[in-house]
Amino acid sequence: MSDQGADKTTHFGFKTVAEDAKAGMVRNVFDAVAPKYDLMNDLMSGGIHRIWKAAMVDALAPRPGQAIVDVAGGTADVAARIHERLVRGGAALHRPVTVCDINAEMLGVGRDRMLDRGVIAGLSWVCGNAEALPFPDMSFDAYTIAFGLRNVTHIDTALREARRVLKPGGRFLCLEFSRVVVPVVDTLYDTYSFKVLPWLGQTVAGDRDAYVYLAESIRKFPDQARLVAMMEAAGLGRATYRNFTGGIAALHSGWRL
Ligand code: SAM
Repeated sequence: MSDQGADKTTHFGFKTVAEDAKAGMVRNVFDAVAPKYDLMNDLMSGGIHRIWKAAMVDALAPRPGQAIVDVAGGTADVAARIHERLVRGGAALHRPVTVCDINAEMLGVGRDRMLDRGVIAGLSWVCGNAEALPFPDMSFDAYTIAFGLRNVTHIDTALREARRVLKPGGRFLCLEFSRVVVPVVDTLYDTYSFKVLPWLGQTVAGDRDAYVYLAESIRKFPDQARLVAMMEAAGLGRATYRNFTGGIAALHSGWRL
């Protein structure tokens, strides 16, 4: 099952674009919103993204000796939570959690924020593409990706890369917007996504288009069952998922067997 079209076009939200143009377009989106990214997440979701991310870290249950990479880690919101969980569990010194993102701007905002909080040693920062990760085979015990898989050009390639860098027995966790499964909520959510979100994007981040892209890219992303099938096809076994908030988001889990 491949999302690579023979004609070498793909989608950027609802637009059809040349495959090799998409990564640059996605990079522009996050360059533009990086300084306001975390504030926008709180405003858009009413803070609910924090609950979803906390549930992801609960599912991960990180342990101090583990090598963990958070791909498309952006401003390190998830990696910081993993680090905090390890410290709270008594591991003041643990292996640094690796944050990998294609966008240096997002990593820069995250690094500054962590320095402000006095977190210097707990995280390491790598600029890299989820489709061609700059890590050797079997490097990590766990791979997490939150709200990132939707943005890559070839989801199947990114999933195969996740498997490649995981050690046998390693855990894969993906938190992503998904398909709403509750009637009525789906209609309300559509109105919110296509009317309120772009307005909020314009008002707070000064970028309407970035939030139109967000709403559209969510609709183009594979639904819960399809993503399970794509994970299995990429060699991430025992794939399962759990819906959050009626399927607005879902947490997919798999293992390199
Ligand atoms: N994981 C963070 C979070 O949950 O707050 C950031 C999510 S943000 C919506 C998506 C991130 O994916 C951006 O930082 C963007 O730069 C990154 N990204 C997009 N395409 C990527 C790719 N091909 N490889 C790595 N990162 C990518």
